[in-house]
Amino acid sequence: MPYFFAEEELLDRDGIVAVQRRKFAAMVRAVLAGNAFYRGKLADVQSSQTDVAVESFPFTTRAELQQDQISHSPFGTNLTFSLDQYTRLHQTSASFGEPLRVLDRNADWEWWRRCWGIIYRGAGVEPGDRFFFPFSFGPFIGFWAAFESAVAMGNMCLPAGGMTTSARLRSIVDHKVTVICCTPTYALRMAEAAREEGVNLAGSAVRLLIVAGEPGGSIPSTRTAIEAAFTARVVDHAGATEVGPHSFECVESPGGVHFIESEFIVEAIDPRSGNTVGEGEEGELVVTNLGRWGMPVIRYRTGDLVRLRRGQCRCGRHFARAEGGILGRIDDMIFIRGNNVYPAQIEDIMRGIDGLAEYRIHVCRRGALNDLALELEPLPGVDAGAVQRRAEKAIQDRFHFRPSVRLAPPGTLPRFEMKARRVVREA
Ligand SMILES: [Zn+2]
Repeated sequence: MPYFFAEEELLDRDGIVAVQRRKFAAMVRAVLAGNAFYRGKLADVQSSQTDVAVESFPFTTRAELQQDQISHSPFGTNLTFSLDQYTRLHQTSASFGEPLRVLDRNADWEWWRRCWGIIYRGAGVEPGDRFFFPFSFGPFIGFWAAFESAVAMGNMCLPAGGMTTSARLRSIVDHKVTVICCTPTYALRMAEAAREEGVNLAGSAVRLLIVAGEPGGSIPSTRTAIEAAFTARVVDHAGATEVGPHSFECVESPGGVHFIESEFIVEAIDPRSGNTVGEGEEGELVVTNLGRWGMPVIRYRTGDLVRLRRGQCRCGRHFARAEGGILGRIDDMIFIRGNNVYPAQIEDIMRGIDGLAEYRIHVCRRGALNDLALELEPLPGVDAGAVQRRAEKAIQDRFHFRPSVRLAPPGTLPRFEMKARRVVREA
């Protein structure tokens, strides 16, 4: 049973467009009736309400939403209904400046659960699967939505916040967990801890890891490393607090994510001109969510870079795919010696290097130019010089420049439970 809502998941392109138009028109009517933020933004659109093609709407940016919450503290004006209808308050991490608050009503939360149902079924989750969520249940929305959606589907779920990695490993083995939801980085951290402590993860019942929060789930060498350690399958998922859980990797076509186009309208644009890019070209992901009327986003510029492809997938869906998953964040691009380098590309190289436990990227300015230095932490007991030579050669082969490399003693580079920060920008 690979579908959660087959009626919409199996629509062809014309069917998808028809559903999107119907849902978008209904949402816009509700939003224009009650939402001060969008009423202001859409003043020009209102006069031609019969044509509700999403392309005629202006973009929404993160900076606008943040400024709105600063000007109208604490929740801003992107609220379609009166405040007493909202039941959930979450906020983003502070990794992109001021945290952004998001409010949802129960109806919006049902929409989150429907999206997650599609993600889980698409990823191959089955009724008897037992879930493990190794992270702290703080204000971040993604974990709550993933957890409650799995419960709603009838699966047994273990919240594992406030535990050490060792305690989590024991819990995974003892409780015969079959599905783990975490960041790719934390999956690798658990694998490392299991090696150190002699825990046999490969012999555990885990068969699926659904990873999110970083590009790693679609980075070939990262997923290979996780899959080898757990002898389990890695499935990538992406979403954003202010947008929703928009995409998932299906079982039949690894190496990319489908957008849930029955619940989101997705576009890829040239970040400079704002024009739509051609099919298969790199562009900034722009998303409109269709079922979160309480605090919607219309044509939201995510800052994520994707290569979109349309057409029917082996899984039967016509939902657009981002080839290679989310390729990186536009802000994270590093321009070095004539190359545009994304941290995800370096991660792909680093995770393929034998004997390397962890790494960090230092970007230093030398006059008008950037320089890249790698800090490498070899596994205990391996030949550090050999690890260094392999890393230098791999970067040189891929990008045609020689990075400066320094070695870090075992166990000294940071490990992460949430999104990893492996790029250090030095003045
Ligand atoms: Zn598919």
